[in-house]
Amino acid sequence: MSETKSPHGGLTRRSFLKTTGAVAGAAAVAGAFTPALQALAQDSKAVDGDRGEEVFSTICRSNCFQACMLNAHVRDGKVRKMTRGNYPDEIYSGSCLRGLAIPERVYSATRIKYPMRRIGERGADQWERISWDEAIEEIAAKFTDIRERYGTRAVVYESASGNYGSIQGNSGMSVRFCNALEMTRLGVCYDVAYGYGTNRVVGGTIRGYPPEAKNMLHSKHILIWGANPVFAQPQTWRIIRRAQERGARLTCIDPMFSASAARSDEYVPVRAGSDLYVVLAMINEVISNDMINELYVKRHTTAPSCCARTTA
Ligand code: SF4
Repeated sequence: MSETKSPHGGLTRRSFLKTTGAVAGAAAVAGAFTPALQALAQDSKAVDGDRGEEVFSTICRSNCFQACMLNAHVRDGKVRKMTRGNYPDEIYSGSCLRGLAIPERVYSATRIKYPMRRIGERGADQWERISWDEAIEEIAAKFTDIRERYGTRAVVYESASGNYGSIQGNSGMSVRFCNALEMTRLGVCYDVAYGYGTNRVVGGTIRGYPPEAKNMLHSKHILIWGANPVFAQPQTWRIIRRAQERGARLTCIDPMFSASAARSDEYVPVRAGSDLYVVLAMINEVISNDMINELYVKRHTTAPSCCARTTA
């Protein structure tokens, strides 16, 4: 791999430590569960007199994008349990077992809390605990070696959803960290071409921002396509269910007969990778049967004019 050396590309141990120290510091702060809760929730703290617990309002960070509000019950400096919190709009209040099980993750005996170095063969599951200084020293040496041999961009940071915390998450300090070290960033979870393609055709991207979820309550027909909200987006699923109870028809298109497919009014099994043909057939049906709202398409989408019935 060839690389143009940047005037800012020199990585000294000092600069690396400064960068990683800031990131590790932020992560450590964010990882310290009880102090973080206390700092976040001073205003929302309540005391459950019967049990001698303090109750802090917080939010689930289980990585499912649903952001359920939770109550953390703290006794003797330890989170004893989580219970459902309440948003002002009750439709968003709820939680699933992942959120309620947070204390088990926090206090799990298998949770990795310190830097560990592999000492055996890969796969042998043999590790030794090392200090943070040693870990930073070792990583800095590796980064430096790669950068000197191949250039700054040869160090790659790969991430996807994982954690979108503003401080320690993928949209937070890690971005600063990558920029500071001029790394390459990859996103292997998505086919980026798909995002660019849909943006050009219909004016939205894979990471587009659709209207608020509860708008689905006004839907007549909801299409679940290649998703399984029953497991992956329980908040959204609750709203879909309510819409269904109010008369919305639910269609699920998925190669797998998922839990969401099982609860849909109609399940359309497609062969994996053949979705495009289903989309094209649907567009053809709409245009051929004159069901297109030409004005709407022209005003509100970036679809090419062929969608606006220029077949003559
Ligand atoms: S749906 Fe479950 S995992 Fe997702 S934010 Fe809510 S409680 Fe957490």
